[in-house]
Amino acid sequence: MSSSIAEPVKALRPFSNEPVADFSRPANREAMEKALRDVRAEFGREYDLLIAGRREKSGDLLKSVNPSRPGEIVGVHNKATAALANEAVEAAHAYFPRWAATPPEVRAETLLRAAAIFRKRKFEFDAWLVYEAGKTWPEAEADVSEAIDFCEYYARQMLRLAKPDPLLQLPGEHDELVYLPLGAGVVVPPWNFPLAIMVGMTTAALVAGNTVVLKPSSETPTIAAKFAEVLLEAGFPPQSFSLLVGSGSVIGDLLVEHPKTRFIAFTGSKEVGLRINELAAKPRKGQIWIKRVIAEMGGKDAIIVDREADLDAAVKNVVWSAFGYQGQKCSACSRAIVDEAVYDQFVDKVKGEVGSLKVGPADQPENYMGPVISEGAKRSILDYIEVGKKEGRLIAGGAEGAGDGYFIQPTVIADIDSKARIFQEEIFGPVLAVTKARNFDHALELANDSEYGLTGAVFTKNREKIRKARDQFFVGNLYINRKCTGAMVGAHPFGGFNMSGTDSKAGGPDYLLQFLQAKAIGEKIS
Ligand code: NAP
Repeated sequence: MSSSIAEPVKALRPFSNEPVADFSRPANREAMEKALRDVRAEFGREYDLLIAGRREKSGDLLKSVNPSRPGEIVGVHNKATAALANEAVEAAHAYFPRWAATPPEVRAETLLRAAAIFRKRKFEFDAWLVYEAGKTWPEAEADVSEAIDFCEYYARQMLRLAKPDPLLQLPGEHDELVYLPLGAGVVVPPWNFPLAIMVGMTTAALVAGNTVVLKPSSETPTIAAKFAEVLLEAGFPPQSFSLLVGSGSVIGDLLVEHPKTRFIAFTGSKEVGLRINELAAKPRKGQIWIKRVIAEMGGKDAIIVDREADLDAAVKNVVWSAFGYQGQKCSACSRAIVDEAVYDQFVDKVKGEVGSLKVGPADQPENYMGPVISEGAKRSILDYIEVGKKEGRLIAGGAEGAGDGYFIQPTVIADIDSKARIFQEEIFGPVLAVTKARNFDHALELANDSEYGLTGAVFTKNREKIRKARDQFFVGNLYINRKCTGAMVGAHPFGGFNMSGTDSKAGGPDYLLQFLQAKAIGEKIS
């Protein structure tokens, strides 16, 4: 693992992805086992709200549980009242001019220190993700590594944007473009990348010079509380952000509608994203700007398996994409669209592969799949499985898993029509629909038959078909002959088309521009 000391911005190396720990190495296994024990010893602790540096107890408590063993309380959190939510936006607005005036180099250095702290506490964060989000060890490690990547990458991007490309210089003028932050923003992440997405959206906003009211998911508030510790230790001013645990349905509208909210960065479901977009569009009394909404939403991602594909590779990658983190990734493959020439073979092979996946508590490293996030999610997914059994042919799974946790068997349902609900609706669980295509063109047509457009993949050895997919497969993130999950910061800027969102391309060179506004200055000099 790399050093835990942040690099000075003047001698910064080019960005590279954080290496993920290999848990087959005894030293890493032992370190992870120790982190799990240490984190478990902190179970049940009470956490305060953090309003621009002030610690607050509302007395209205939210208990976050371990989805692998729901009897275990991971953390107890004070929930924000409407008055505290209001105060958090006012405080962010009041402090904004000071933070905006802090030199970009200082903001970037602070963010690099945050990356170094995450690196030092990596296994500890892995363990929180295992216990609070039900991530298996490798999934947790990938999430924490991505969080580090976002810090490292956005720090560098801010340094780049602090010195924009020179403009055309008109005769007798000095012409310049500078980027300014927007103001006080509300950041609303989901639970499924409880560290990476939260860190990415929050630190992009902060390093660009904005202040932030962070409302984490109610499923993963302890991870958010630990992130707040990192921000403070790194040196972000306590007034530059608030941590506002609380139910989205109770304080969400208030935060979005507040006239001093300048922007909302949201990642989550289509329903909530569209609601935020609609509420944010209406100007409120005293509001003097159009609120900017960055909304990254759901997916119904397809992998096309062509008759000219390496079938074994396709099967493995479909299974990884469908069942990694229990299918609870916006990028998860929930539709396999398979050429009729290899369809039966594909279905047989997928059945064999899925049969070997072990499901159980996420802290036990032999399990490939842990629990889904909550009792509510489990019920909704099982309902979809019942719908799917009527819409197609059950190939694997189809029921809950053994044990007290929110376990569901990896489920595959074949012969699904494109009008079927399980072909069109986001289930967000371990359910794969398999559909037969007449040929490659038909497969592309089926893949595009969706209101979403987030990720997609194609397995084929045929260059002409690859070219066609590049032109016609309408998704924000297209992959060829690899899985459709696992976007890497810097290499796969992430964001979707259609109802998948505003295509903000997290982890890409344009992402910080969403948190900035450009000012052009022309000065007459002769
Ligand atoms: P969600 O139910 O939409 O919740 C997301 C966040 O919104 C949570 O923090 C939630 O808080 C909050 N919220 C709920 N109601 C709100 C309201 N009225 N106003 C403001 N905020 C509100 O989504 P989720 O279940 O956490 O996450 C799963 C979804 O995220 C899936 O659809 C998945 O595809 C999508 N996702 C998309 C991407 C992407 O990059 N496109 C990445 C990851 C996930 P509470 O927890 O308190 O309700």
